[in-house]
Amino acid sequence: MGEKKKKIVKTIKVDLDKCNGCRACEVVCSAFHAAPKYSSNNPARSRIRVIHEPLKDVYVPVYAGEYAKAECMGRDKYVINGKEYDECSFCRASCPSRDLFKEPDSALPLKCDMCEDDPPQEKPLCVQWCLNDALVYEEREEEVEEEVKQEDVEIGLDSMIDKYGLEKVRDTVTRMSLAKKG
Ligand code: SF4
Ligand code: SF4
Repeated sequence: MGEKKKKIVKTIKVDLDKCNGCRACEVVCSAFHAAPKYSSNNPARSRIRVIHEPLKDVYVPVYAGEYAKAECMGRDKYVINGKEYDECSFCRASCPSRDLFKEPDSALPLKCDMCEDDPPQEKPLCVQWCLNDALVYEEREEEVEEEVKQEDVEIGLDSMIDKYGLEKVRDTVTRMSLAKKG
C-alpha cells in the first residue's frame, strides 16, 4: 500500500444542453498545445473533440483520456433522448481502433493535461473560451494513494514501441542521437 496524500482533483463538468457545437474549445486547445504555443491551430490535434451526429442533433464534447494499447473487449453504446449512438462514439481513449485523439502526423496519443502551464492557468483554456458555459471547471481535495505519474514522453515511447517494436525504436533513437552529435 502506498502512502496517502492530499490531491487536488480537477474536473470539467460538461452540460450538453448548453453546447452549440461552435468548436472554440477544439481551436484553443490545439493552439495552446502547438509548438511554439499559439503558433497554429488544428482541431485534429485538440485534446477535446466535439462529437457531432447531424441527424441526431447532439453535440458532445469528449476529453482525451488514457492511451489504450489494445481495443477493449466490450464496446459502449449510448442512448440519449431515445436516440442510439455508434459504438465507441463518446469513449475518451486513444486506442488502435480509430484515429481520434492521435497526433495526426506522428500518431502519438493525445491526452488532456488540464492545460498544465507555468505559471498555471486560472482555468483550463477550453473552459475560458466556451462562451456558452457548457464547460464548467471544478476543483476538490481528496486523499489518495501516492501514484507514480507516467511522463508524456514515456507514454509516447510506449505507443511507438507497440507499433514498431523495441528494437526499431532503440535503433532509431541511437541513430538520431549520433546524427545530432554530428
Ligand atoms: S466551446 Fe463550448 S459550446 Fe463551443 S463546442 Fe466547445 S463545449 Fe460546445
Ligand atoms: S483542459 Fe486544456 S488540455 Fe484539456 S481539453 Fe481543455 S484546453 Fe485541452
